[in-house]
Amino acid sequence: MKYTIDIQATATYADKYNEPCDCIYCQNYEMMFSTVYPEVVKILHGFGIPLRRPLEVVDCFWNDTRDRRRYESFYSVKGELFEDKLEIYKKDAIITLYRPDTNAHIYINTGMESPYFILAISNIELPWVMSENPDD
Ligand SMILES: [Zn+2]
Repeated sequence: MKYTIDIQATATYADKYNEPCDCIYCQNYEMMFSTVYPEVVKILHGFGIPLRRPLEVVDCFWNDTRDRRRYESFYSVKGELFEDKLEIYKKDAIITLYRPDTNAHIYINTGMESPYFILAISNIELPWVMSENPDD
């Protein structure tokens, strides 16, 4: 067993750290993520994670061909992780679990009380569907 999860506590966790953000980058993420990454959404459901309540969504500019927007996102999971930097999914996007005491440079601010760990999704690429364009 590499981790334990309290699905109910993860699903109901809500405070200022994971308040939904309504900027165009986060709206685009929320709108397109389920369509592009249905398998990842299933995994998030298994953890009890609400897609629209990330700790942070990082917009990482355009991909090389400038037709998709790159993102990373971070979620708080109630439970205990016994192995740091545990990669649980790697296909198009990558899901990695981090202990709160990780030495990795990731977004780690959460209001969740111990025990908890961070689920990070990297390598995300989403089409831009907002009417307003990104600044760059
Ligand atoms: Zn935002």
